[in-house]
Amino acid sequence: MAEDTTGQDEIRWAPRVPKRKIRRLYEWESKGILDEELIEDVGFTLLLRCQSILTIRDAREGRIKCPRCERQGETTIVPRPDDHGPDARIECATCGWAITWGAYHKTYQHKQLHSGGAVAAFETYVKAFDRARTPKAKILAIDRLIHEFHYSLSTDPDQPTRPAAVNLIEGKLTDVARFLDALTYGEAATAELESRRREWRDTVDRIPWMVLPAREPADGADDGER
Ligand SMILES: [Zn+2]
Repeated sequence: MAEDTTGQDEIRWAPRVPKRKIRRLYEWESKGILDEELIEDVGFTLLLRCQSILTIRDAREGRIKCPRCERQGETTIVPRPDDHGPDARIECATCGWAITWGAYHKTYQHKQLHSGGAVAAFETYVKAFDRARTPKAKILAIDRLIHEFHYSLSTDPDQPTRPAAVNLIEGKLTDVARFLDALTYGEAATAELESRRREWRDTVDRIPWMVLPAREPADGADDGER
C-alpha cells in the first residue's frame, strides 16, 4: 500500500553538532581563547536543535506548529485530532499545509529528537542562549547544555538515564559520552567548566549500564571522529 507522505517535505528538523566543532571549542577554551565565531556557530546550531526537539514535544502533546506558516514568519498551531491513529489528518486552516499524523511522526523517528527526560535542559538552554550577551556567557550555556542528562520519568526523577548530549552531538550514545569525557581541558580552562566536567562524570557513573574507561590517560580522543 502506498504511503501518504504529503506534507513531509516541508518539515525540517535541525541537525546535531559535529564533534570536531565541539572539540575545537574546548581546545581553544583550554588555551584561554574564546573563538567568538565558533561559539556563535555551535551555540546557534544547538539553539535550533533544541527548538526542533521542543517543537516535536509540543506536537506529541497535541500542538503542531505549521512549517509552511513558519517559513512565512508566522506561528500557526494546528491541533492534533483526537484520533491518534496514523491516518489522522492534520490541516492548517491558514495556509492549507496538510499531513497525516503517521507521516509527521516518521519525520522525527530514530533521529534522537525525543525530549525524553531532559525537557527542562532544552528549555533552559533556549532561554539562556537568548539572554547571553558575551562569548563567555554563551560558552557556559553551551557547556551546561551538553553536560545535561535525561532523568527517569516513571520511577525515580533523581535517577539519570542517559546523557542529553546524544540528542545534540553527532554519534551513537556511548561514542558521544566517551567523546565528552575525553575533551581537552587545559590549565586556562574556566573553573566552572572543570567542575561541571567532574559532576558530569560522577553522574555518568550513577547510570548502571554506562561504563566509561577509567579517567587517565585521556588519549583516544580521535575515536569515532567523522
Ligand atoms: Zn500554515
